[in-house]
Amino acid sequence: MFARQAFRPAAALRHNVRRYATEAPKGGSNAAIYAALGGVALGGAYYYMNSGAVTPHPLKEEGKTPKSTSELAKVAFIGGEQGFLSLPLESVETINHNTKKFRFSLPEADMESGLRVASAVITKYKGPEMEKPVIRPYTPVSDTDAKGHIDLIIKRYPNGPMSEHLHNMAVGQRLDIKGPIPKYPWAPNKHEHVAMIAGGTGITPMYQVVKAIFKNPEDKTKVTLVFGNISEDDILLKHDLHELENTYPQRFRAFYVLDNPPENWQGGKGHVTKELLKTVLPEPKEGEKIKIFVCGPPGMYKAISGGKKSPADQGELEGMLKELGYSKDQVYKF
Ligand SMILES: Cc1cc2nc3c(=O)[nH]c(=O)nc-3n(C[C@H](O)[C@H](O)[C@H](O)COP(=O)(O)OP(=O)(O)OC[C@H]3O[C@@H](n4cnc5c(N)ncnc54)[C@H](O)[C@@H]3O)c2cc1C
Repeated sequence: MFARQAFRPAAALRHNVRRYATEAPKGGSNAAIYAALGGVALGGAYYYMNSGAVTPHPLKEEGKTPKSTSELAKVAFIGGEQGFLSLPLESVETINHNTKKFRFSLPEADMESGLRVASAVITKYKGPEMEKPVIRPYTPVSDTDAKGHIDLIIKRYPNGPMSEHLHNMAVGQRLDIKGPIPKYPWAPNKHEHVAMIAGGTGITPMYQVVKAIFKNPEDKTKVTLVFGNISEDDILLKHDLHELENTYPQRFRAFYVLDNPPENWQGGKGHVTKELLKTVLPEPKEGEKIKIFVCGPPGMYKAISGGKKSPADQGELEGMLKELGYSKDQVYKF
């Protein structure tokens, strides 16, 4: 059973009794855990069902029969030879001092993206002064069955060519977007417990998976999120994450760690530490029942899991997760 009380109290921390998720709850709270750790630096439309399909419907690939109308939907991104779609910016919402949410319209109002969890898209832009176009991946945060649009949450990096361009775009302007770029293929109950270690905008692929899990009443997966940020303002999707914690206290738990915490901050301070991970993550002995996702800036990968060698090569498992005894197969780097 997985309950709020499943997190061990301060005393248990000292005795190195790791307790989580797949074990019976014993008492404790996030506050107790943080307190115990306090001293540590802590146009290409495609009709799946109606066209002379070149690309099979994903459900057909899996040998399943579509059940709902959404499974019969038209989809925008089909990959393969499709190339980039030129999509108009529909709306922009400011999220914080450096991050905005961008909604792009799909070619038709009743289209779905066609992305399967977890997937990214790539964007392409060539400014007037640029010799070559800049290409960057982003992870949509809209529901996979959202009709007519995809949403991207994008942080602006000073002098970052793509993020600056996006933040300067006006509604109605178009951006070249291509997809899907498949990442970890999620299936309901694929693992009993998923732990997610995210930094900054690294929350976006985690959010995609979290939404897929909690929208599906048949998916009983437990999720533990460890989310590192610079300051409280930088915690993206905070409201949505809090709501999930309140709605699914038995199955969703989030731990926040800040470099620059405000006074009276109840969460972790500094960087994500091995001690925090040891305390809140499911244990390595759980084997295939668990999976640990990592996504964040390069320094975070280095410390937690080691970096990826290339988009297609996960590289060796290193860092804290290796030291804590996890195997390469138990970890996925987005
Ligand atoms: C699979 C995948 C999905 C992604 N999804 C998202 C997303 O949903 N939202 C989002 O905002 N970004 C996301 N990113 C990052 C994004 O692709 C770009 O790297 C980022 O927007 C910077 O691009 P740029 O052209 O503006 O700047 P660049 O010139 O590429 O970088 C500008 C500066 O920022 C630093 N930098 C770049 N990326 C990061 C980072 N992730 N963390 C810390 N420093 C960084 C660079 O080292 C450089 O100093 C994702 C990356 C990958 C690989």
